[in-house]
Amino acid sequence: MKSVKYILLISVLLLGIVFLVTMPGTMRKNKTAETTTTSSAPQTSQQSQVSINTSVANGSSAIVVGGEPESTASSSSDGGNAEVDKNEWAFFLINQTHPLPDNYTFERKAVQGKFEMDSRCADYMINMLADAKKDGVNLNIVSAYRSVEYQQTLLDNDTKKYEEQGYSHDEALKMASQAVAIPGQSEHNAGICADILDAGNYSLTEDFEKTPEFKWLSENAAKYGFILRYPKGKESITGIEYEPWHYRFVGPYYAQKIKESGLCLEEYYEKEKGNQ
Ligand SMILES: [Zn+2]
Repeated sequence: MKSVKYILLISVLLLGIVFLVTMPGTMRKNKTAETTTTSSAPQTSQQSQVSINTSVANGSSAIVVGGEPESTASSSSDGGNAEVDKNEWAFFLINQTHPLPDNYTFERKAVQGKFEMDSRCADYMINMLADAKKDGVNLNIVSAYRSVEYQQTLLDNDTKKYEEQGYSHDEALKMASQAVAIPGQSEHNAGICADILDAGNYSLTEDFEKTPEFKWLSENAAKYGFILRYPKGKESITGIEYEPWHYRFVGPYYAQKIKESGLCLEEYYEKEKGNQ
């Protein structure tokens, strides 16, 4: 009888050991399964967040691009964030000495009413207009993409205006081209700029700089990638008269840099890339 008790005791002990060895194993298995599921959940939400952020950055939604000073600081510093989209495609000159190549093509997208811009920068403009509106500022585009043919019509009309004032054709053309770029030499032909005025105003005059709309643009346009392209005091370099209404897309990265530098695009471009 004693040996039977022994055997019973040993089997109970063995069972206990088997139980102790296997149970934590299965429990551990469950736990790992749990951690994988829980950790995979945030991963996917993180992934979708990343893609939202990227699309926001590309589309330059106000919250990220326009919002906090930190985002401005991080986008203007070269170091930390390697993913800064510099919009290199938009960093180029179009002027009297740098006409658009004949084969230059791009897709257009409406930004306000019938006005269109290069689809690669259209969303930046759309977001800027929307955010200005939230601030109670109604920005009104009066010109954006213009075909080369339309550009020619504008130049012809302006030249004619001066000819009627008694200037020779060459003089008239020279004067007209100070205000209306030669076809193929206008940023409007490339769809990367817009002439913006206060609502209800359709006259492109320096008076625009007295408006709250101009003040808002001066403070905010760079965050959306736009620069005041023809600043006061830079006429001899740009070859174009002061135009407080003309905003050119270079992307938020370069726009902030150019704004901080106080240089016009010609000067900044030369400094950055060398004279080409
Ligand atoms: Zn313009």
